[in-house]
Amino acid sequence: MNNCIFCKIIAGEIPSAKVYEDEEIVIFKDIEPKAAVHLLCVPKEHFAYLSELDGARAALVGRTMQKIGQLKEQLGLSAGYRVVINQGENAGQTVHHLHLHLLGGETLGW
Ligand code: 5GP
Ligand code: ZN
Repeated sequence: MNNCIFCKIIAGEIPSAKVYEDEEIVIFKDIEPKAAVHLLCVPKEHFAYLSELDGARAALVGRTMQKIGQLKEQLGLSAGYRVVINQGENAGQTVHHLHLHLLGGETLGW
């Protein structure tokens, strides 16, 4: 998608600190970490909102959540973590390509 920073990261046009990649998702370090471990888990397909989920995308998001659970030790999140999906203006979403924030590596305040 034109001018989408995460599509550019997925395409390798912008560098990122990738920690995991497969055929349908990539996980890399957030450039402005809000916790000791702050990763962004990004489905490679470009869409912005949960309201855009059809059956195939819902299954993709489900597999993405499953994969996060499988990778938690490897990602440094074995002691617990928070998954955040910002949606729209009131949530402060700044990148309009669906992504899951993975926060952990320390005790998190609410
Ligand atoms: P949002 O506010 O849309 O939920 O989250 C976007 C996140 O992407 C922010 O936490 C921001 O720090 C991160 N981010 C924005 N641009 C880049 C970038 O070029 N590289 C990386 N690694 N993270 C970015
Ligand atoms: Zn995109």
